Amino acid sequence: MKITRLETELYIAPPPERPITDALRANKHPGRVHVKVHTDKGIVGRSSVGFSSIRGANQTLQTMLDAEVAPLLVGRDPLAIRLIHEDLKRALEEQAIHGMTMYALTAVNVALWEIFGQETGQPVHRLVGQAKDRVPAYTMVGWMHLDLDELKEVCAKSTEQGFKAVKVKVGSPTLEEDIRRLEAVRAEIGPDVTVMVDANQTLTVYEALRRGQVFQEMGVFWLEEPLPARNYDDYAELAHGLAMPIATGENLYGKEEFKELLIRRGIDIVQVDLARLGGFSECVATGLMAAAFDVPCCTHGGGLINLNILCALPNTLYLETGLLTDEERDHFVDGCFLAPEGAGFSW
Ligand SMILES: [Mg+2]
Repeated sequence: MKITRLETELYIAPPPERPITDALRANKHPGRVHVKVHTDKGIVGRSSVGFSSIRGANQTLQTMLDAEVAPLLVGRDPLAIRLIHEDLKRALEEQAIHGMTMYALTAVNVALWEIFGQETGQPVHRLVGQAKDRVPAYTMVGWMHLDLDELKEVCAKSTEQGFKAVKVKVGSPTLEEDIRRLEAVRAEIGPDVTVMVDANQTLTVYEALRRGQVFQEMGVFWLEEPLPARNYDDYAELAHGLAMPIATGENLYGKEEFKELLIRRGIDIVQVDLARLGGFSECVATGLMAAAFDVPCCTHGGGLINLNILCALPNTLYLETGLLTDEERDHFVDGCFLAPEGAGFSW
């Protein structure tokens, strides 16, 4: 089998009236680049990557895929997935193996795994060795732009749908505001639902220690991204000083950056981001590296590709997701998503 063509399609969403917001940024420019990798056997691998916080970034990504990546793919064997990944990394090195380059690598990697899945008739997690038949999931619904009533409402919806864990944004200007948000959520969902908090890189070590001690007394399970993503030594200091688990990783590019945190014991829960890590292959590799440190793995975001990643890992903890779509309801049992059985990345 040979790759014959890479096709891209740009989708720019209308600017949202009320952008989704955390303590760091607002997603004002949602859009995506949809990718199709065509083969001479007629199998087409699909993927989609996108940015939402930078105006024009999706247009730039499309140009990179069309002008730089596509010529490097035509004529290649689509099942030499890691070889292609390493070749693209080398070829694109001068514009950094970071940032947007990783998004482009992800678009290719996911499409190639989809081709492998279709060619073999297997879900992708089985192609690397299935480890789980179900994956616990929590909802990320407690966005910063929601007022207390709206926050309570979405958390109630989450528990109505059967989720046993929910995540709430923190990192408000004051600790007192964070506490009010958490008290409102706890009053709504009762004592038995797990609550996590996410500060989106906005705290200092001192402030993370101060707030973290309060959060853990309030029964919060994990503190996510309290510090800037690559302040590795600061993460180590915080993780050693705080009893509650520190979850982080969604803004790290490549497994080498996770290594920096793991060797310092600055991370208790690994969170892999599909787009920033470079695709399915690198998320699985990072998850397995975390397993060697006895650190559990979660995904940043949900959907079928992330679910396939977690079904392939022995140290899976949680899939992150929004509220269930109608299609997802059929595959969600007792707070867990069942392992997909469709070819490639499908149910
Ligand atoms: Mg996060």
